Amino acid sequence: MAEPLAPGATIGIMGGGQLGRMLAIAAARLGYRTHVFTPEPGSPASLVAAETTVAPYDDRDALAWFAERVDVVTFEFENVGLDAFEVVEARVPIRPSRTVLATAQDRILEKSFLNSIGVPTTPWAPIRSRAEADAALGKVGLPAVLKTARFGYDGKGQAVVRAEAKIAPVLAALAPPDHAFPALIAEGFVPFAREISVIVARDAAGRRTAFDLVENRHRQGILDLSIAPARAEPATEQAARHAAFAIAEAFALEGLICIEFFVTGPGEVLANEIAPRPHNSGHWTIEACAVSQFEQQIRAIAGLPLGDPARYADALMKNLIGADIEALPALLATPGLIPHHYGKTETRAGRKMGHVTRLYPRGELPDEAGIAAAFRPALG
Ligand code: AMP
Repeated sequence: MAEPLAPGATIGIMGGGQLGRMLAIAAARLGYRTHVFTPEPGSPASLVAAETTVAPYDDRDALAWFAERVDVVTFEFENVGLDAFEVVEARVPIRPSRTVLATAQDRILEKSFLNSIGVPTTPWAPIRSRAEADAALGKVGLPAVLKTARFGYDGKGQAVVRAEAKIAPVLAALAPPDHAFPALIAEGFVPFAREISVIVARDAAGRRTAFDLVENRHRQGILDLSIAPARAEPATEQAARHAAFAIAEAFALEGLICIEFFVTGPGEVLANEIAPRPHNSGHWTIEACAVSQFEQQIRAIAGLPLGDPARYADALMKNLIGADIEALPALLATPGLIPHHYGKTETRAGRKMGHVTRLYPRGELPDEAGIAAAFRPALG
């Protein structure tokens, strides 16, 4: 983009969840308006955006109407059909591009892309039909993880297969026999030492920044805790950053991308997933950095100078899932805790309702016992 987006311009956001909400808040700070496109009335993002279009993602008329009223479009949710983006792209730039989105939406395309640019992944094989399953599992070996290639998130649409006898039932659960076969991917189960992620931004001129590496801990397939910075060997940090920058470059990315890795040894990282948008593992940047991941995304897509991603504090970020949100009054009453509520009025098990961040002076992250106790007694 030659000219930066002028203050007062409108940024379109596809998706109405908490990532869109925090993007809209960051955009407002820089003087932009936001217009959210979401099928859900009263979504977290629309509660803070200037405008919302409530319509299904395949409503082409509504998409055209939306696209004609915004200056650039970004997304906070990747599981939107690519057809929707065709309608939008004909009218207004989409950043990151549709190609990036298409790759991130499909685990088979994603892994092929990563390997094609030399980024290591778990061993994997596509399963496009029932007949391919045995060969794929033979290739990756047991235990294996079977995942639907598309539309999975937070551990949904995946299962671990530990014994041959379990292949058929797991396959039947992920690909019900009375439906068309959804493409799956078989991955070797990786006994990783830890999971980390890195968030990089790249602008149209090829300038790039990276936030510090984060360690992520999951519970039941959902991110539970992020620890910033990750306690990683310099070689591991270097390998992760190198891979993340290579990915951003290969996409000629305009925007933000999060890469999740399994660490299998010092300097050994396997890319597991890419998300071309702000990511749950980057929420700590709101308080611990001068420029948050959300502001960085807005800067990158608006043609503004990228911000300095320096980390001024160490941080723990814990998700408030389902009934955890009931701890909000106690979290608010605890000095040093910084809770966020996403404005969702209906609490459901497994639903991300908010998060809470705790900062520490640089270099003073607590030990494991301290991490376990960091949000107590407000949060068990
Ligand atoms: P994903 O949806 O691919 O991010 O997977 C969700 C979580 O499941 C990951 O963060 C890991 O904790 C676990 N997982 C996924 N794939 C594998 C694998 N191939 N080996 C071991 N654990 C995995």
